Amino acid sequence: MEVVRASRYGGFCGGVKRAWALAQQARAETAGPVYLTGELIHNRPAMEELYAQGLEIAHPSERELPPGSVLLVRAHGEGPQVYERAQQQGLKLIDASCGIVQRVQRKAAEWERQGYQVILYGHRNHPESRATIAYTRHGLIIESVAEAEALPHFPRIAALAQTTVLLSEYERVCQVLATKCDEFMNQGQVCAWTRLAQDEAVAIARTVDAMVVVGGKHSSNTQQLAKVCGAIVPTYHIERLEELRPEWFASARRVGLTAGASTRDADIDAVAAWLAALEPAPAGSA
Ligand code: SF4
Repeated sequence: MEVVRASRYGGFCGGVKRAWALAQQARAETAGPVYLTGELIHNRPAMEELYAQGLEIAHPSERELPPGSVLLVRAHGEGPQVYERAQQQGLKLIDASCGIVQRVQRKAAEWERQGYQVILYGHRNHPESRATIAYTRHGLIIESVAEAEALPHFPRIAALAQTTVLLSEYERVCQVLATKCDEFMNQGQVCAWTRLAQDEAVAIARTVDAMVVVGGKHSSNTQQLAKVCGAIVPTYHIERLEELRPEWFASARRVGLTAGASTRDADIDAVAAWLAALEPAPAGSA
């Protein structure tokens, strides 16, 4: 089978590469346990690799950790309370939160300070959205245009976005939010890696008979990749090689392959090799 693989943006993004490197460094330099504030990245096979190395999730708000312990802040970021708790408990904190996420957190605090109602478009239960809103006192998370339409009127709104949402959907939300206030400020920033990965995936999807997207089932950017590809060709979002089924590709001659921002290269390589070993459908049957 011919496999067209995303060559520029499939796999670890800059923020994940940094978080992963910090985790590996902390592991190598720490004799005792290394704690994480949550899943460092949204990918179960990658997290299993970290757990096997002895890294462990222990949120300092829920558990008292021994003073001097090493605590890594997840790539999605954490609210200010986590940093305060880590300081109170005398922990050695390593901040692996992505710089792009930190910038959105600073904006949330700043625009609320300036008297704006901060409204973030994202997933209500996603750790990045929750952490960003934790930098405000009255900030709100909305998940849809319908939720934007149901909002009351505010004097001033500053809109923000979870960094991995679809830009087109965020723009539609902003159009509604602009009608819900006297003064509207669009401060949202969708991560460039996420956007470029989607563009590359869409370009590939237009030339193939099916797409495979490898990445965490609960990874927001991976879900978006699957969504944009799925609008073009049959698309299969898998987290592990074992999920693949030959019958999905029975009528395919060319298959596209991309991956979420927290997918290890080795996992993408294994899927690429599996797909390449498939027999393509006979000419004219695709
Ligand atoms: S997807 Fe973008 S915002 Fe998220 S960790 Fe990667 S670089 Fe940072």
